[in-house]
Amino acid sequence: MQILVAEDDAVTRRLLEVHLGRWGFDVVEARDGSEAWQVLQSSEAPRLALVDWMMPGMDGLELCRRMRRGSCDQYTYIILLTALTGEENLCTGMDAGADDYLTKPFNVNELQVRLRAGRRIVELQDQLITTREVLREKASRDPLTGLWNHEEIVGCLARELSRARRSGQPVSVVMADIDHFKGVNDRYGHLAGDVVLRAVAQKMQGRMRPYDCVGRYGGEEFLVVLAGCSAESAQALAERLRLSVCREPVDTPDGIVATSLSLGVATCSDASCQPADLIRSADQALYRAKRNGRNRVEANFGPEPAPGVISPCRPASW
Ligand code: GH3
Ligand code: MG
Ligand code: MG
Ligand code: MG
Repeated sequence: MQILVAEDDAVTRRLLEVHLGRWGFDVVEARDGSEAWQVLQSSEAPRLALVDWMMPGMDGLELCRRMRRGSCDQYTYIILLTALTGEENLCTGMDAGADDYLTKPFNVNELQVRLRAGRRIVELQDQLITTREVLREKASRDPLTGLWNHEEIVGCLARELSRARRSGQPVSVVMADIDHFKGVNDRYGHLAGDVVLRAVAQKMQGRMRPYDCVGRYGGEEFLVVLAGCSAESAQALAERLRLSVCREPVDTPDGIVATSLSLGVATCSDASCQPADLIRSADQALYRAKRNGRNRVEANFGPEPAPGVISPCRPASW
């Protein structure tokens, strides 16, 4: 583990370096508070710091105060080193944001156990952050398909629309609904239905650009958010999604299931769109696709796709 030693006295610095090196620490040195501040600002900054109180320029107290002013995820555990003894100084040091306090000349064993405690805190904090990220990821995903869940995909649309208000770029959405899916459950069972849902999700995900988002909007409905995507490009993508699903049936343990999607596309090219407007518009187009025979793409803005493009596989029949 890396440790920052901020100390203006070369002899003490050298002494600390020897001990810390022996205990397995990777020492980063700073000769004053400003240098230490620079080191601690980097993304790979040490998470443990031994900081001398009295240093030229920015002293250890000011460094502690500055460190605690920010609200960074990466906590730095700071042990303040000082020749100043007494309860009052200890309180001042801890009030400034130090986690621990050691007086000089320091006892080597005491330094070692205090560092061990600091290391434990840093490692615990890392574990907490990792766990929080895992939980956050889980809470954002639909457990069956692994796609973004309803809340997350709608949030993604809201974020893209507010970004588009600044950039002036269009945002398109595609609402996709599996055709006659109730019939799949009725005929093959719900487990086969689940396999079909997962397979469709995978096929859709496989057709997306890395910066596009796809989520499970509801039961057998998917919402795709396409940032910076014109109406024409969105229709073309919807058509690719449709083809990728209807081209190959899904192999389930309960039988081979022919599957198709109906898709509605809507595009927002001005600054006034709200997420609900765009979703409503894509929904209307989707219902038109259902009414017009299913296994097809309809758009609310832009040109209709050429008939030749949408006919390679026939609508599924049940
Ligand atoms: P349409 O072509 O008009 O969309 O017809 P549909 O049968 O697909 O639509 P409908 O709304 O009648 O039925 C949707 C079905 O999706 C009903 C519901 O049981 C099923 N469904 C929703 N969520 C799941 C799921 O997680 N697993 C399975 N197996 N089925 C689901
Ligand atoms: Mg000093
Ligand atoms: Mg539906
Ligand atoms: Mg359906």
